[in-house]
Amino acid sequence: MPFTTIFFDLDDTLYPNSSGVWKLIKERMNLYMHQHLGIDWEEIPTLREQYFHEYGTTLRGLQAHYHMDLDEYLSFVHDIPLHKYLQPDKALQNMLQVLPLRKFIFTNADENHARRVLAALGLENCFQTIVDIKAVDPYCKPMQAAFKIALEIAGEPQPKNCILVDDLATNTRAGREFGFYTILFGQIGEHPDANVSLSHLTDLPDLLQDLKY
Ligand SMILES: [Mg+2]
Repeated sequence: MPFTTIFFDLDDTLYPNSSGVWKLIKERMNLYMHQHLGIDWEEIPTLREQYFHEYGTTLRGLQAHYHMDLDEYLSFVHDIPLHKYLQPDKALQNMLQVLPLRKFIFTNADENHARRVLAALGLENCFQTIVDIKAVDPYCKPMQAAFKIALEIAGEPQPKNCILVDDLATNTRAGREFGFYTILFGQIGEHPDANVSLSHLTDLPDLLQDLKY
């Protein structure tokens, strides 16, 4: 398979869910919704669930229903002392540096957060570009339009030449529909919404070798 390009999700993909970072981001989202938008605490979980299914992210749902400052929201929810939770990942760095594909971050967070995460993990020089929530505005994963923009930014005309690694099955399902080869991170065994599952990113070269890319 002639893969040229690989897109990695950021949160809960480049670092494990067990780090607790994503849990903190979610708590900051809840706090923002309560403090800045005046939403009752009891309503927040249902609203976020609804926005996730309807709009892809909490942010896009909030933008559709409230007057809010995008940059203020993004800096508020990502205001986390990342260095306390993430450490440089030398094994991942080594794997990425020799992986013979063009590598991109494709995230529903913003570039500023992505750069901070990459710095904490020691992966600053491993990716060509960060495709963030602003780059795909007004869309986000798992919308097909967001995948189209990511493909354009990567300069790769053929979805079938691309791989997506993401921890959310909603995103791998959408990516596969778009034509990407999809790898669901953090899962073991077959999954109906991805081409394949992967529990350790450092196993990626072996997996791709098996595909004879
Ligand atoms: Mg993720």
